Amino acid sequence: MKNGGIFRKFAEFVGKDTNSQNESKKLIVVLRILLLLIAFYCVLNSVICVATHDFSKLLIFIFFLAVNIGEFILSYYFHTMTAFYVFNVGILGWILIMVHLFGWNIGVQHFLIVLMILFFFSRYKQYAGKIFFAVALCLIRIFLFYNYQNRVPNWQLSVLQEDFFQIINTLMTFGCISVIGFVFSNDVQELEGKLVEYNNQLKKQANTDTLTGLYNRRKALEVMERICSNQLNHMGFCLSICDIDFFKKVNDNYGHDVGDEVLKKVADILTESMRETGIAARWGGEEFLLIFPECNGDIAYTKLEDIRNKIKNMRVQEETFEFGITMTFGLAEYDFQNGLNATLKEADKKLYMGKEKGRDIIIY
Ligand code: GH3
Ligand code: MG
Ligand code: MG
Repeated sequence: MKNGGIFRKFAEFVGKDTNSQNESKKLIVVLRILLLLIAFYCVLNSVICVATHDFSKLLIFIFFLAVNIGEFILSYYFHTMTAFYVFNVGILGWILIMVHLFGWNIGVQHFLIVLMILFFFSRYKQYAGKIFFAVALCLIRIFLFYNYQNRVPNWQLSVLQEDFFQIINTLMTFGCISVIGFVFSNDVQELEGKLVEYNNQLKKQANTDTLTGLYNRRKALEVMERICSNQLNHMGFCLSICDIDFFKKVNDNYGHDVGDEVLKKVADILTESMRETGIAARWGGEEFLLIFPECNGDIAYTKLEDIRNKIKNMRVQEETFEFGITMTFGLAEYDFQNGLNATLKEADKKLYMGKEKGRDIIIY
């Protein structure tokens, strides 16, 4: 709990809003973390300088520490991009001074890679700028290599000291790149996750009827076409188009909202009844479509009889009235010879036969 609190406080501290709303918050957070990391690096080096009584080097680290702390404080007042450019200039200056004084072997030039990666994440779409910056940094590194690799540094360090700086600079570089990678990859992955979720939502919306939550006509057709094209569809399937009887009267007598309520209740019964048998979809208006995969007409008929009774027994209750409804069903077995459309037409024809016969009936 305590650690969580400290972590949250730290996140709030480095994540405090910039003074312009349009700026990238991630970048300023990364900059602040890097500045703190580098400040820690300066403190560590300063302590070592004190321990080894190396006071001239101590001055350099204290100077750089002051620059970093200054930049950190100003990051709360600067615009993000100003803070970013100041950071670049600061690190670049630091690299040049350090290589000039202590030579190539302390590995401070690794920080150029940190700058390059940070630049790539900091700008949106500025491809030319990114390439230009990367090339410039690469050239600086090559320049430093040719100038300082074999040159005796102004301040000659012992091999042990050089190794020490090399290790600490390597650790710092990896630390900085990790911070950049962690924050920005998190960002991308979060975005990707949101896109996948959004995509799934869109897909669901495209397939679902908003009122009832059932598959819509488009999805129902897709499902049936998939069943038809399946090589294993030897047994065929059944489908039923069903329609609420005198539904217009429900709307006229009780209002459109009550009509919607009835549609939802019917959809619930159909979903529940078809859960283990097949699929229920809204075919349009007050018409529904039921798909019975791998099922013959007799079995589907028994199932429909059960559904017809459930619908008939359903009560729609409001404060001042109560009523029930019935449904008429047209049932057809898949017509292997004439295909899906013919089967749908057949089911529709039977539905209207049912209407003519007085409704509340299954015609098979
Ligand atoms: P039949 O027994 O012959 O099917 O008679 P019916 O009154 O059910 O048929 P008709 O086609 O005359 O009327 C269907 C009504 O369904 C008309 C339309 O306003 C209503 N309806 C269609 N979609 C919706 C909807 O989403 N919500 C509501 N409340 N009513 C709808
Ligand atoms: Mg109707
Ligand atoms: Mg109708």
